[in-house]
Amino acid sequence: MALLSVQNLTKRFHVDHPAAVDGVSFDVQPGEILVLLGPSGCGKTTVLRMIAGFEHADRGSVRFDGQTLTQAGDTPKHVRPEHRNIGFVFQDYALFPHMSVIRNVMYGLHGKRSDRRVRALQALDLVGMTDYAERRPHELSGGQQQRVALARSLGPSPRLILLDEPFSNLDASLRENTRQEMRKLLHEQDMAAILVTHDQEEALSFADRIAVMSAGRIEQVGAPRDVYEQPTSAFAATLLGRVNLLQVNANGCEADSILGRLRLDREVHGPITVAIRPEHILLSDPSEANGVHGTVVSQDYKGHDLTYRIQVDEQIVTVQSDCRTTYPEEASVALRVVADAVVLPAK
Ligand code: ADP
Ligand code: MG
Repeated sequence: MALLSVQNLTKRFHVDHPAAVDGVSFDVQPGEILVLLGPSGCGKTTVLRMIAGFEHADRGSVRFDGQTLTQAGDTPKHVRPEHRNIGFVFQDYALFPHMSVIRNVMYGLHGKRSDRRVRALQALDLVGMTDYAERRPHELSGGQQQRVALARSLGPSPRLILLDEPFSNLDASLRENTRQEMRKLLHEQDMAAILVTHDQEEALSFADRIAVMSAGRIEQVGAPRDVYEQPTSAFAATLLGRVNLLQVNANGCEADSILGRLRLDREVHGPITVAIRPEHILLSDPSEANGVHGTVVSQDYKGHDLTYRIQVDEQIVTVQSDCRTTYPEEASVALRVVADAVVLPAK
């Protein structure tokens, strides 16, 4: 049985505005990490706040661990946040600046002071921060503060923890490490989590499943690889990384395009849009390869790889390539698509 079940959750802040969250439904299994991925303003935080109980829902329900926490409608129910037993790490951590690390973690735990202290130390141990127990937040780095915030939400041993862009204040190198550690910790503790982010790389590397959100709705849910490789909309395709969208005329499992004849990932007929990831196009010297030719408009060197923009007919095609062979601006290149093009369903 699902640990958390969100049904038709809806929230409108102003009568004359569109709903911030509009009929959102999903489940989270015990120990599962679900990532809500979507652009800023699409309603991610509002979903988390309704699950945590900080926000009342206009419609829908939240069931957690066999209990109804939120039920909108004729017989409304709303369990207060402090009685939900769900952990929450906010975007800005919000540690109390005047309290030591240990007192920050003890805050919110119930019971005898000595018991609370033991549990707080255990939580700090989980995140590798026991040595810093007596420090104040301002004496810690951003990453350390973030771990204390996590320890604080782990203290009561919730089975579900809500993480609202918890890595966004960390610099790039620290972010990747902290992310991996937290993922490991959650899985070791068999703790389920919902992480909210607008960062596609973070979503792909952190999630067991990704839910793609747009304008208050969920567009697609699936394993990272499935959502990346089989997006069901141009929006989802674009949100998860760079993509080339081509209008083609399909004839069964093939279509002619500006990139030559494409193999399609399913059988379809007529005018359609297909998605091709930039890493699925290979470049070569036009004198050594026949096929479609284009002209390099620009190259963006990123150390481990290169992104080219290439003019082919009237369109700019994005190509991701390693740095073994490089082509300067204005060079002629041959392009070859090496994967099936993904057919996007017509809206
Ligand atoms: P996200 O976390 O995806 O960036 P939010 O859930 O914060 O999005 O916001 C979704 C929409 O709801 C936005 O248009 C935002 O301006 C609006 N909104 C969020 N909270 C409030 C609030 N307390 N009052 C009025 N509007 C709000
Ligand atoms: Mg937000």
